[in-house]
Amino acid sequence: MINPQPQASHFVDGAWLEDAAGAALAVIHPATGAEIAHLHEATPAVIDAALAAATRAQADWAQRSGAERGRVLRRAADLIRARNRALSELETLDTGKPLQETLVADASSAADALEYFGGLAANLTGEHIPLGANWAYTIREPLGVCVGIGAWNYPTQIACWKAAPALACGNAMVFKPSEETPLCALQIAEILVEAGAPAGLFNVVQGRGAVGAALVSDPRVAKVSLTGSVPTGARVYAAAAAGMKHVTMELGGKSPLIVFEDADLDDAVGGAILGNFYSSGQVCSNGTRVFVHRALREAFLARLTERLAGVVMGDPLDEATNFGPLVSAAQRDKVMGFITRAQAEGARLVCGGTIPDRPGFFVAPTVFADVTDDMEVARDEVFGPVMSVLDFDSEEEVLARANATEFGLSAGVFTRDLTRAHRVIARLQAGTCFINSYNDAPVEVPFGGTKASGVGRENARAAIEHYSQLKSVFVRMGPVEAPY
Ligand code: NDP
Repeated sequence: MINPQPQASHFVDGAWLEDAAGAALAVIHPATGAEIAHLHEATPAVIDAALAAATRAQADWAQRSGAERGRVLRRAADLIRARNRALSELETLDTGKPLQETLVADASSAADALEYFGGLAANLTGEHIPLGANWAYTIREPLGVCVGIGAWNYPTQIACWKAAPALACGNAMVFKPSEETPLCALQIAEILVEAGAPAGLFNVVQGRGAVGAALVSDPRVAKVSLTGSVPTGARVYAAAAAGMKHVTMELGGKSPLIVFEDADLDDAVGGAILGNFYSSGQVCSNGTRVFVHRALREAFLARLTERLAGVVMGDPLDEATNFGPLVSAAQRDKVMGFITRAQAEGARLVCGGTIPDRPGFFVAPTVFADVTDDMEVARDEVFGPVMSVLDFDSEEEVLARANATEFGLSAGVFTRDLTRAHRVIARLQAGTCFINSYNDAPVEVPFGGTKASGVGRENARAAIEHYSQLKSVFVRMGPVEAPY
């Protein structure tokens, strides 16, 4: 088993860096409550060193060819894959997510991103624009130093979904993980150096929100990419606007998953399980408002309850475990608050709703039926294993209700009717949608939200637009005709 204590709290300018003057950050294993590592928050000196190193490294990196940049990213992807088990164990210790999940969804997704953007790096070109006798061309340029700020649910994946397109485009990055899950991004930083990235290209500094805020407001920073909640997103967006910085905002959601009466029952139940209980429900794109056609409702609840008997709750390092704890005691208490209030508002508890009698921050997978649109549990993001099942009768009705939310991250439809599937998806206000599936996030497909759920897209070619800018160059091929 790996030792979770890193060599130092930060990774700056190609090396581990400690500054014990920073406030203490205890890393807690969510399945036991035990402290597994001890770090310090970044001091102003650490933040300054990271930004200075990134500024210097970016100038060098941007001069390299795309092919050379791509090679470094692809080498890093290979190293991550070769160390998948160790990285997955570390992610499991840090987040509490079952090893069964982290082995396939975290480091491997990070490697996918580095591979994909490593492959694109040599193809990031401008265009030639013929203008009769004259012509123009565009140059795709990097933005400069980018800041990445991560949430605690997918720490390795988030670090690489931001770093891979940023570095492919010739930018440098300073990344601040969530204070809850600081460990894996440090490993990614070390791996990138091993893969040939220049010192300072990807730096990791630890800290709470204040460290993130200091990074966002620094004039050396050209772009901020945040994965987090809507309130934090609004604060970070405002701070970035003051410096006219580019932003990508991957924020929260309260996404609808619509199950029509003709859906394949087991597929729909499977989608709802994946979209509510994977990572113990700590997934931004989860379809937590499950609208089930009234004709199918009781069959859906019965099959769901049956399949939830397959939950194996336990030590997340045991590969037989398929359901882990929440990230922290605070998150468990927050989720339990939602559960208590949902019951008080009249939602029918179908299963779960309790804290299992075991160490760690577990909440049993919880299903509420008879949920109505006005209940808090149907309006606010819970970010825990709580599914709300709502009834509906018609397509028009469910569309209006599904869209009646400030959020717009994801949406899903289960139906065997091909035309209905596309018709409904076209009218759902969401950035990332699924037909007869839920929560797939391959790197080849753009990912992101509309409305309050965010700005910009991660993954796919779309991400390139958010980490580069165009310089237009007009070229006159004849004499300049001035009026005087
Ligand atoms: P938070 O919004 O609490 O925090 C996100 C990050 O921002 C953390 O690193 C946090 O630091 C940092 N931060 C907090 N305040 C500031 C500030 N003023 N300036 C700069 N940085 C700041 O989110 P959580 O970590 O609780 O994550 C859960 C949320 O993330 C959910 O809403 C979820 O939906 C969303 N999310 C969205 C995803 C998407 O792609 N759309 C994917 C995953 C999660 P610290 O934690 O140290 O306080």
